[in-house]
Amino acid sequence: MMLIAELTQKAMRLGVPFAVHVDLTWRCNERCEHCYLEHDDQGEMGTEELLNLFDQLADAGVFFLTLSGGEPMIRRDFWDLVGRARALQFNVKLKTNAVLIRQAEAERLRSLGVEQIQISVYSHRPEVHDAITKLPGSLERTLRGVRALRAAGIKVAMANVMMRSNLADRKAVAALARELGATYSADPTVTPMITGDRSVLDLRIPGSELAGLFHDNELVGDVESFCAPPPPVGDAELDGLPCSAGHSACYVSPYGDVYPCVQFPLPSGNVRRQRFLDIWRQSPQLLEVRSIRMRDLPVCSTCAHMGICTRCPGLAWTEGSMRGPSSADCEKSFYRTGVPSANMLARGLVTFPSGIAETALAAFAPGAHAGLGLIQIAPLPQTAA
Ligand code: SF4
Ligand code: SF4
Repeated sequence: MMLIAELTQKAMRLGVPFAVHVDLTWRCNERCEHCYLEHDDQGEMGTEELLNLFDQLADAGVFFLTLSGGEPMIRRDFWDLVGRARALQFNVKLKTNAVLIRQAEAERLRSLGVEQIQISVYSHRPEVHDAITKLPGSLERTLRGVRALRAAGIKVAMANVMMRSNLADRKAVAALARELGATYSADPTVTPMITGDRSVLDLRIPGSELAGLFHDNELVGDVESFCAPPPPVGDAELDGLPCSAGHSACYVSPYGDVYPCVQFPLPSGNVRRQRFLDIWRQSPQLLEVRSIRMRDLPVCSTCAHMGICTRCPGLAWTEGSMRGPSSADCEKSFYRTGVPSANMLARGLVTFPSGIAETALAAFAPGAHAGLGLIQIAPLPQTAA
């Protein structure tokens, strides 16, 4: 059977939107302190609009359909939507807080053939988890949901966003995932709010802690190779694509807005005014995203980290240019290897997302940035199956 990576590569070559993420709503029954969304309903798509969108996605060749939010299960038509998605034979992945999942819902999801459910768990301690979600009793209800899903035989991926307030509980959450038969991933990513408000970035873990995470065998596997100096960059890397956003994947908001990725908020069309496939094929924004190769990035193409950097073009866009570096990833590359990025070297001055500026070259010794924040985009490798 062809591997997913091969299928994704093929989809990229053929220009097929292989994986689409649809937020069914931005409304939510929790109020997580780090959430980047606006929760008030500004006129989200109705049932018929979403069913029609799913039909269009099927016609366009979509295989993976991620249904997320907000909390997607608070929509009254949730089951109709999942039912249609499965009838169209999408491989459906659901992102939920599982607060509304009991045995009956778990069995229904199982009977519909939902492939995997991703659930955020911030701590094994209710006082920590519930303080983050701002919903009393949420940890208990979420874990009830996880147990029900596992009992129904559904794969559960436990996602642990790490912030200052819950960093100390990481190993206990990993152990909890193992005990419940869920996979575990740790992710120190906190992104600016969709409104542009960056105050949530104060929740990020300090850079000094991040360096510690990158040097933890339990999280990254082989620390020596993970934190090794970056290998030389060649033509293969320079001819590469920045990521799958806009190439084989995209995001649709509850209001029908299409973006290259949920983390790349470049407005590229709206399915209430245009056919999805017309947006996918002809949107000037998506065409521009698609035209970019790594060698076209003025700073990153000269960077030692280019071959291994998790540079997010979405974050780069929020910083001013989709062809620019993402300072969060520069920091990550630096803390991972101790080698300064081309961006840091070019500027001679490093401005961290927290707004703190430091003289770069003089301060690049490991440990010099203790206390500074960092955003990480890609989840760290799973540590438990
Ligand atoms: S790198 Fe950024 S824009 Fe690309 S797929 Fe990942 S999150 Fe989306
Ligand atoms: S470390 Fe920074 S400059 Fe280097 S490739 Fe990554 S984002 Fe670009």
